[in-house]
Amino acid sequence: MRLGLPDFQRKSGRKVATLPTFRNETQANGGLNSSREATYISDESNLQEDIDVTEKLHVVCPHCGAVNRVDAARLGQGDRSGKCGKCHQPLFDGHPVEVDEARFRKHLDRDDLPLLVDFWAPWCGPCRMMAPAFAQAAQQLEPRMRLLKVNTEEAQQLGAQLGIRSIPTLMLFQGGREVARMSGALDAGGIVNWARQHAV
Ligand SMILES: [Zn+2]
Repeated sequence: MRLGLPDFQRKSGRKVATLPTFRNETQANGGLNSSREATYISDESNLQEDIDVTEKLHVVCPHCGAVNRVDAARLGQGDRSGKCGKCHQPLFDGHPVEVDEARFRKHLDRDDLPLLVDFWAPWCGPCRMMAPAFAQAAQQLEPRMRLLKVNTEEAQQLGAQLGIRSIPTLMLFQGGREVARMSGALDAGGIVNWARQHAV
């Protein structure tokens, strides 16, 4: 059996997870959607919802993980002012969000926004060099996309399942599925262009 992430083994000296360790349900889905857990819908009790024709998008709160429903038109206009209905913190602050594997899966499973994910590791020089560029890209791409950072040294099982062999790797997900990936560092403009080019 081939182990993913040979670089991680070499650099960290730790074994990486092998591929078939994921739950059966993820394989049955053919994707990464994990189990549906109870989630907080900020305006679920809004009785006007039935007659509200405004399109709403699910946005996972970067602070508490609650699922909020946000007016799609507002996001389309670049309005970042929305606050989480549960923890009341801003849903967008123009910065990438560091996520562990569980929170990554929550975004993947529930977020309607395209997810632009930087898979990186602390020991990776090019990753550290790209970090400011990725942060700048967040300024430009929010709130139409969610920018996440996954430390592959901590989320080794996830990196292995996604077949990430070198870092930094950028991946774009929409609707719970990968739509594009690219390895190697980019500057901010390159990240923005790449993401916009591949987002549906
Ligand atoms: Zn929240």
